[in-house]
Amino acid sequence: MDCIFCKIINGEIPSSFVYEDENVVAFEDLNPMAPEHILVIPKKHYASLNDIPEDEMGIISDIHKAIQNIAKQRGFDKAGYRVVNNCGSDGGQEVFHIHFHVLAGKTLGPIC
Ligand code: 5GP
Ligand code: ZN
Repeated sequence: MDCIFCKIINGEIPSSFVYEDENVVAFEDLNPMAPEHILVIPKKHYASLNDIPEDEMGIISDIHKAIQNIAKQRGFDKAGYRVVNNCGSDGGQEVFHIHFHVLAGKTLGPIC
């Protein structure tokens, strides 16, 4: 499958992970929109939130556990951060491997 995030996961595109566990990886966004801009993704390919079967929704919990850990590790848990999932064309999704943006490091502006 021609998916850029699957290529990052399988090492075809070299990148360094800021976090990895059994089901989830995280890496810095190529085009950061905040001092800290991390993408958190499942190792398994799902195109978007629409494509996760009900019995696999535990991955959403895994991703948020990873985000909790990343925020503590990088020290922005107390100051705060924003978690964003863009879904589909009106949502502004450009990469169709579900991912959660974690934005931190400054006071963020309005959502849209
Ligand atoms: P979306 O608009 O789909 O929610 O966000 C896609 C994000 O992926 C964008 O913020 C974009 O900068 C980031 N991105 C696209 N290609 C790459 C890549 O090859 N490496 C990394 N690290 N980020 C990427
Ligand atoms: Zn993928």
